[in-house]
Amino acid sequence: MKTLLVFGDQLTLENTALEAGTLGADRVVLIEARDDGPAHKIKRVFHLAAMRAFAEELRGHGWDTRQFGIDATPSFREALVAHLECERPDVLVVMEPNNWGRQKLLEEVSKQTGVSLRITPTCQFVTPRADFLNFAKGKKRLLMEAHYRRMRQSLGILMRSDGEPEGGAWNYDAENRKTVRDWKKDGAPKPPRPVTARRPRDKFVETAIADVNKWFPDSPGRAEDFWLPHTREGALEALASFVAERLPLFGDYQDLMLEDSPTMFHSMIAGPLNLGLLLPMECVDAAVRAHTAGQAPLAAVEGFVRQIIGWREFVNGVYWLKMPAYLESNALGATLPLPKFFYTAETSMNCLRCSLGEARDTAFNHHIQRLMILGNFCLLAGIRPQEAHDWFLEMYIDAHEWVMAANVLGMALHADGGFMATKPYAGAAAYISKMSNYCAGCSHDPVKKSGPGACPFNLLYWDFYDRHADRFASNPRTSMMVRSWQKRLPDERAKITAEARVFLDGLE
Ligand code: SF4
Repeated sequence: MKTLLVFGDQLTLENTALEAGTLGADRVVLIEARDDGPAHKIKRVFHLAAMRAFAEELRGHGWDTRQFGIDATPSFREALVAHLECERPDVLVVMEPNNWGRQKLLEEVSKQTGVSLRITPTCQFVTPRADFLNFAKGKKRLLMEAHYRRMRQSLGILMRSDGEPEGGAWNYDAENRKTVRDWKKDGAPKPPRPVTARRPRDKFVETAIADVNKWFPDSPGRAEDFWLPHTREGALEALASFVAERLPLFGDYQDLMLEDSPTMFHSMIAGPLNLGLLLPMECVDAAVRAHTAGQAPLAAVEGFVRQIIGWREFVNGVYWLKMPAYLESNALGATLPLPKFFYTAETSMNCLRCSLGEARDTAFNHHIQRLMILGNFCLLAGIRPQEAHDWFLEMYIDAHEWVMAANVLGMALHADGGFMATKPYAGAAAYISKMSNYCAGCSHDPVKKSGPGACPFNLLYWDFYDRHADRFASNPRTSMMVRSWQKRLPDERAKITAEARVFLDGLE
């Protein structure tokens, strides 16, 4: 008899470990554990409810399924060892884990129990791990765009018969960056319904809420505010509603940040996708079909496709390429602790207050809030990358270590020294005020560069280039910033850096 282990982020009937088993002969095992690290309560409810619903789905398909419940399972390792020692299966079969630590754990448990381990290829990513390692071989720096074009070509997604990209360009970023002013000119469109509203609850959600409140009372957020689809059926509906209702305008406003409409036209499918409730190519195919049917413009569809087969696959590849050392990256030598207001949202900076409040209440921010508000603040302030990474991992419904390592440490914090980004994603208040309506409700002035009321992002931005002038003076994409800073009068520079220091000293 085989044990077919299914991790809580591999909840798909396409799981290749199931393909390796035999109905009626082998047993599927799912383990709910209490030692899986800090997590927002909504995220915990999501994972528990999805795992329980999937276990029932497996039983419905005839699989003999053993589920270790959270009440009885303080540790994942202990539960797995106890199962293997009790049942002594011929082999433990697992689809490639999505987490480096779990891969190691399986190897150790196999050695400890004497049960042989068989790893089957993942179905949750399009790019095989070995293929990405091959692509990365010998390169000092990896750029997403090269990976993305390679994927488009090999999969034939949005490609013309002559081998050129559909529409003649590989990406439509320039069309996908409408500002607040553009949005107002367009009549201030909003999606037809809020995506984070609560849904009717089934027994899986009800019991998950009770268990989360029982075992994790101190985690951030409220379990009762759970809003996600936690089944395959619900995830497919969520994908269909995105494609029909939001995809056509997704591209236009994907970088926009609005205080009263935080999720705008975003897909909100990353959570279900990263648990296996959806698979990447079905998301891509749904968007491409909408374009082919004339229901969504190329720029929007291309932007969405790039997120799935571009960024998602790329950050996963970087994770497996660079682990485990990548988690310790700190190329800029940042040492400041993460401010406590990241949990309370109590800060005078409205952009941070809105984004952090949404993270606390819904366990979600969209990518520009993550990159250009929260990540940007941590980068400029010099927050220790590992603390920022752990916060992102804890708070977001779609966050897993493979997602956050490259996104936070590499892209947002430049902690890998530029391995996957040619420049740091540093922005001052001008960017935030152009791309959001946060500044209108803020006690700071986005135009003021120093003095009373000046926006802290302006102080921190120039202080950042002052502190790292040597590193960024030789980078063609940042040298202009360094030169522009160094051309200022010494008194002005001293005033800005002194005010930045006062601000940073005032963070708890
Ligand atoms: Fe953020 Fe500065 Fe705008 Fe306030 S003024 S919302 S702190 S960018």
